[in-house]
Amino acid sequence: MDINEAKRQAVEVIDSCSELLLEVSHSIHSHPEENYAEHHAHDVLTAALESNGLDVQRGAYGMPTAFEASTGTSGPEIAVFCEYDALPGIGHACGHNIIAAAGLGATLGAAAVAKELNGRLRVFGSPAEEGGGGKVFMLERGALDGIDAAMMVHPADADLRWMNTIAVQQLLITWHGEAAHAAAQPWNGRNALDAAVLGYMNVAALRQHIRPDERIHGVFTNGGDKPNIVPASAAMHWFVRAGDIASLEQLKARVLAALKAGGEATGCSTEFSWLEPSYAELVRNAPFENLYAANSAALGRVVAEPDGEINVVGSTDMGNVSHVVPSIHPMIAVAPSGVGIHTEKFTDFAASPAGDAGVLDGAKAMAMTIIDLWSSPELLQSVTDAFASRGNLRVL
Ligand SMILES: [Zn+2]
Ligand SMILES: [Zn+2]
Repeated sequence: MDINEAKRQAVEVIDSCSELLLEVSHSIHSHPEENYAEHHAHDVLTAALESNGLDVQRGAYGMPTAFEASTGTSGPEIAVFCEYDALPGIGHACGHNIIAAAGLGATLGAAAVAKELNGRLRVFGSPAEEGGGGKVFMLERGALDGIDAAMMVHPADADLRWMNTIAVQQLLITWHGEAAHAAAQPWNGRNALDAAVLGYMNVAALRQHIRPDERIHGVFTNGGDKPNIVPASAAMHWFVRAGDIASLEQLKARVLAALKAGGEATGCSTEFSWLEPSYAELVRNAPFENLYAANSAALGRVVAEPDGEINVVGSTDMGNVSHVVPSIHPMIAVAPSGVGIHTEKFTDFAASPAGDAGVLDGAKAMAMTIIDLWSSPELLQSVTDAFASRGNLRVL
């Protein structure tokens, strides 16, 4: 089958099921579910895949809200990731309903020509992108075995070739002191809040001497109970981010030393745990990005290079995937420039006509990219070669 004819057919299938795709997008949007509680999204997506003839594994890889579905029996195997978790308080402010519906659409479009093109497709429902690391557990449990390339599309306020990502790990830290009456016997107390505040200030001083692509940000989660009791316990939650996973390890040690020093200064003990998993930076793949860019342009969306003006910086567990198989993580515009993800405004755009257009165009651009990889051994080889010779192409 001619490659352009295959793309035309896939686009036609996506258009013909647009009602279903938008229904799925809106249904997930109106039932926001956080990390590992995405039961509604899991059920809606798996039902849609199954009713369209795919083999579906619910609750895949030991996670009740993960799934896997597949189609095709031979040929290169491409993976599409669907994310569908929401944020506390502000719902789908990261627009993961769009990622899910676009992934579903790409799957249905590509599946229609999989047999004729001799290609295989696996669609993964990956829970808990917002901190829970669903993809990391899936890949550790073998989800990417045999996969030739992986992709997803993320909504944003611009059409971009990739997202500027940095590696991240979260830290929970608690200081333990000694309670005392704050007026009657303060000399008997060891103030854990002082330890936390000093630790915070130490990190503030450290920030002058970190790299431009490093980020450290934390909140107090416990600062004591009552002003007349010297706080016996205080706690913080931190995110530590760095350009790549190797520099993250170095920064983590510096941050921890700064925080522990607060305990030293006040006679408090420190207890901490790094939350697993850490998120790795995205490894870019230029030939793969080029395929997506060309297909996106054919739909009238010209993807730009992120720069100082149009830039999204964050961390994603797709970064970990990109270290294992060739991957892309393009951004698709669903909101006016300047409306950032993780804002209430973005939540509204995730279910707007612009959000709906993002679902359909994202589905089509991904389906056409899958078709490129299925149809042309040369293109797939160029993607594989770029992955094999990967360096860190991240630009910040
Ligand atoms: Zn997010
Ligand atoms: Zn997101």
